[in-house]
Amino acid sequence: MPVPLLDVNAQNHPLESELLEAFTRVLRHGRFIMGPEMETFEKEVADMLGCRHALAVSSGTDALLLGLMALDLQPGDEVLCPAFTFFATAGAVSRLGAVPVFTDVCPVCFNMDVNDARAKITPRTRAVIPVHLFGQSADMDALLALAKDNNLRVLEDGAQAIGATYKGRACGTMGDFGAFSFFPSKNLGGFGDGGMLVTNDDSLAEYARVQRVHGMKPKYYHHHVGGNFRLDTIQCALLSVKLKHYATYTAQRQANAAHYAEALSKLPGVVTADPAHCKCPASQEAWLTANTARLILPVAYPHNTHIWNQFTLLVPGEGRRDALRNHLQAAGIGCEIYYPLTLDQQPCFGHLPESSRTGCGVAHRMAGEVLSLPIYGELTEVQRGEVIAAIASWLKH
Ligand SMILES: *Cc1c(COP(=O)(O)O)cnc(C)c1O
Repeated sequence: MPVPLLDVNAQNHPLESELLEAFTRVLRHGRFIMGPEMETFEKEVADMLGCRHALAVSSGTDALLLGLMALDLQPGDEVLCPAFTFFATAGAVSRLGAVPVFTDVCPVCFNMDVNDARAKITPRTRAVIPVHLFGQSADMDALLALAKDNNLRVLEDGAQAIGATYKGRACGTMGDFGAFSFFPSKNLGGFGDGGMLVTNDDSLAEYARVQRVHGMKPKYYHHHVGGNFRLDTIQCALLSVKLKHYATYTAQRQANAAHYAEALSKLPGVVTADPAHCKCPASQEAWLTANTARLILPVAYPHNTHIWNQFTLLVPGEGRRDALRNHLQAAGIGCEIYYPLTLDQQPCFGHLPESSRTGCGVAHRMAGEVLSLPIYGELTEVQRGEVIAAIASWLKH
């Protein structure tokens, strides 16, 4: 039986009657733009995360863009971004005429290497965008200290990490802003595009709220050039339905990750990533060089609640990752490479100064070794077993 990488219907179809009810309610009242369901959904998200303000916006990408606009990012400003993330993190920076400066990442948690970020600060550095990649928090104590010491604004890219925590604090609520996405493959997956911008700062929230509607306040009076970054009432109504089940979805993903870790770690040549090697580039390098394992399993740091947007293996050795991918695909098992090309290597950033594209060696290595497995909550025990069996058979080659 084939195992898909993701099955949105398995999560959405059991909610059909609740979703139709929400849809019908909006259909009948007809307030399709910024209707009452938007405010309700914003309040529910703010309550879940424990933050003061949540603004529903058109996508995760627009949440990042709006956050940077509200932080008054100017052309020529430099913004530290990890080299290993989805494109939107740095795309939002470039669209405002600012310069993304790419930092290396940690080979254990895949997140920003704070020492490298520190080394890349210049007098033009204005902000840092920590990404909580694959559903696990970046090293926020170190990043917040770095930002404080250097007077940088912090925009957390929590697109893959809504509900994840760092030392008990919700990802997205520790910096000036946090950005989330409701793209269908994210943990709180919507019915199309959608996103959320959150903050604890009243004046930043107010400014972003106005920028969300063309910088307009009152109607037809424009103080700043904003945009249309609204999220449809219908989308908010449907997402509210799913939010009620969100704790269950997260628990299911965590259970899947635990089962994978248990079963896969027993196979020959499989090791688990060691948190002791986070933060210190020298030990990272030594670990990478010394590691002769055939598969490295991801790990959740004890101080983090990992929500497992992805369960990402490392497959070291030239061509080995692609060999495993081909093997799994031939067995009908969905898998994906997030991400095959780091941002410092993207053609669209080729014009950036050399200094913003150097020293991302670990990120390059990750791009060559990562492979993500099906981890969605509705995955059955039988399906999980098939994934594990297919990996076991590959390891015998
Ligand atoms: C998905 C994602 C985004 C963009 O979100 P969209 O809703 O697709 O615009 C930004 N950053 C990261 C890390 C993402 O995974």
